[in-house]
Amino acid sequence: MVSAQTAANAAERSDVIVAIDGPAGAGKSTVGRAVAQRLGLEYLDTGAMYRAVTFAALRRGLDPTEEADIGELSESVVMTLEATPAGTSVHVDGVDATIEIRGREVTSAVSAVAANSRVRSELVRRQRRWVAEHRGGVVEGRDIGSVVFPDATLKLFVTASPRVRAERRVAEIGGDVADVEASIIARDRKDSTRSDSPLIETSDSVVVDTSELSIDEVVDHVLSLLES
Ligand code: C5P
Repeated sequence: MVSAQTAANAAERSDVIVAIDGPAGAGKSTVGRAVAQRLGLEYLDTGAMYRAVTFAALRRGLDPTEEADIGELSESVVMTLEATPAGTSVHVDGVDATIEIRGREVTSAVSAVAANSRVRSELVRRQRRWVAEHRGGVVEGRDIGSVVFPDATLKLFVTASPRVRAERRVAEIGGDVADVEASIIARDRKDSTRSDSPLIETSDSVVVDTSELSIDEVVDHVLSLLES
């Protein structure tokens, strides 16, 4: 096990950026938050940013596939994200959207919003500014190692089988495993096949399959990768 002190020293050496990418429900957030805490770094959930734009669009009655409207909205929307032990709490234009951004309506519309290049370039700009202001951090998403921070200190591709991911989600929020698995597979397909910044494993990322590992085992593994 890597001591918290050694890990903290690693974080002090320079602006450490840990990029965590992977498909929906693979455990990226749990791993990311735990790694950030052990390293004394801030944590950014970029999926929550795409969800926040989607929430703002639905609230205004906009069609999520309407590229110009949604692109323009992404540039003006005010979002504040706060990492808490229970997850990221999000305010959108002053409204608490923490619960609604995880709901079915936003989840089914978010892939269309995330395929919009104008939205992507605006959110990537905000993500880079966040990391510069926080002098590094643990950043989680789909394109972090490939596009946002190609020179990250460590790039992880966190994954697990679709069935395991569905079972975990059902344990958290209920539902039918087969239905949840089907919607996870559909969202993965959209995220991996879009033309702008698709979800890919870069050649220099370390693949971590969390299907058979506990969170503590994954976190220890990640910290030992950073040490080396
Ligand atoms: O991580 P989460 O499942 O909350 O992300 C929601 C959606 O946001 C993803 O399915 C994907 O379409 C999009 N996303 C993205 N790029 C990121 C983070 C999330 O396209 N960096």
